[in-house]
Amino acid sequence: MAPRVRLSTQRRRSAALLLRRVAYGESDWIVQLFTEVDGAVSAIARRARRSSKRFAALEPLHLLRVEYEVSDSRDLATLTEVKLQLPRLGLTTSLAKMEAAGSALRWVRGTITRNTPEPRLWAETNSLLDRLVLCDETQVLAKLAGAGLRLLDAAGWGLELGQCVRCAKVCPENSRVRIDVPAGGVVCRHCGSVGKVASSLQRRRFVEAVEGVDGPIDTVGAKLAIDLVTSAFEAHGRGEAT
Ligand SMILES: [Zn+2]
Repeated sequence: MAPRVRLSTQRRRSAALLLRRVAYGESDWIVQLFTEVDGAVSAIARRARRSSKRFAALEPLHLLRVEYEVSDSRDLATLTEVKLQLPRLGLTTSLAKMEAAGSALRWVRGTITRNTPEPRLWAETNSLLDRLVLCDETQVLAKLAGAGLRLLDAAGWGLELGQCVRCAKVCPENSRVRIDVPAGGVVCRHCGSVGKVASSLQRRRFVEAVEGVDGPIDTVGAKLAIDLVTSAFEAHGRGEAT
């Protein structure tokens, strides 16, 4: 008789963010979660579309408390419980805030992997969502820009903003620079001067943001940072950036 294989099923509990939800079969959802304890978790929420009660909290942006079962033999976990740990209703009443939160969750979604907790990405993402709840609408882009630069850094893909990535020449304090995402940061004039132009003040604000201080930044600067961060996450997702 062949030995019986014991498949171990483990029950896990974690705080989580919902990143994606796709209808599956007649009545299920397949969800992608960013969990505090396990990083990315894909799970099936059985009968979630039939019974509105059990998984009612399964909405993006809010901080969730989830329980799920993982087994060695399957990639897909089974979601057994979802509770609302911290509702962020202030996000759902503003389109600008919802779009900003959506951008951050997309950046994170392409970065996290299974069985790999990401404490910095976790903390930074939740901190941004909490700040978006409280901030004035005029502050949304600035908040997203600062958090985006930190998320990129936390993912290990931070842009070099202090010196040229090719020749290591230190950026002059008071002149504008060019930042090239595929090259990984600033490229000086002697090295081809490619990429997007940032003023000396914008560059200084970006450096401060990575260090954790969101100084006052204008809309143009915030949009530039968001653009750079989006390109960097996309390039790394495709394996193109250095
Ligand atoms: Zn150079």
